Amino acid sequence: MVMRRTITPAILLMTRDMGESDLLVNLFTRDSGIVVGIAKGAKKSMKRFVNTFDMANLITAKFYRPNGRELFIIEDASLIDSFPHLSNSLNLLSYGEFTLELISQFAPEGVPQKKLFDAVSSFLTTINVIGSTNERWNGSSTGTVEGLFWSHTLKFLEELGIAPLLEKCVRCGKEFNSNKIDNITNLSYNVSNNNTHKGELDLFVPSAGGMVCNGCLLSREGGVPFSRGTIMALIKAKDVPIERLAILKFTRDSLREIRKGLMAFIRYQAGRSMKSADFIERYLKSD
Ligand SMILES: [Zn+2]
Repeated sequence: MVMRRTITPAILLMTRDMGESDLLVNLFTRDSGIVVGIAKGAKKSMKRFVNTFDMANLITAKFYRPNGRELFIIEDASLIDSFPHLSNSLNLLSYGEFTLELISQFAPEGVPQKKLFDAVSSFLTTINVIGSTNERWNGSSTGTVEGLFWSHTLKFLEELGIAPLLEKCVRCGKEFNSNKIDNITNLSYNVSNNNTHKGELDLFVPSAGGMVCNGCLLSREGGVPFSRGTIMALIKAKDVPIERLAILKFTRDSLREIRKGLMAFIRYQAGRSMKSADFIERYLKSD
């Protein structure tokens, strides 16, 4: 029986040594999602896999799955692009690593992932360009780059089907869109205006899957207060096409809220801590 070969662009997520000469390779592929396979002789035969198995490399991979086996056989791989400038900055490197960790954790196996794949490679390309202009990042501030990182991350979560609900309260459906909220507040001003400032206690609650309005908060429920500006910025990031995300501006306060909220959300979804997330939090907190 002829085994069906797949040839597809792929991003290298991870490799591990397997015995004397083989490598165990985790790929995020455009046509088949996550693929875990063996590259036979890859540690010895550098000719067949020239420079292909470095972290985050964009490669073309050819593989098949032998009948009855769990692991694929990676027959062939060639380099399309690499992102060497990420290592010019700890920020960029950790954004890249975080993205790979996110994909490893949540992307499905054996399912085409064209949109997500293109979004991830476009993000890696973007931060690689930023890294190549290093020094002062050619005018991009740390905040601009972090904003770009979070708006891409939100796109990735959407493509993975696990984006948090931001537009409205996860419990009662009250909308957080600013125009509508002003109307609601005006209408109900005398009825339910118990709190000192409107919207002050709207919390992003990771375990609830998104925003919870102050009326729906359970007593002592934990969460991250999101300002109206932060909610609006995130809603915008969902709407803006990926190639135009660079036009979005985030304030430092918003970035702090988003970092705290989305990191907690992703950890909650993953059910565990993530190495690069811990680093990003520690590193950017001092900023
Ligand atoms: Zn509510």
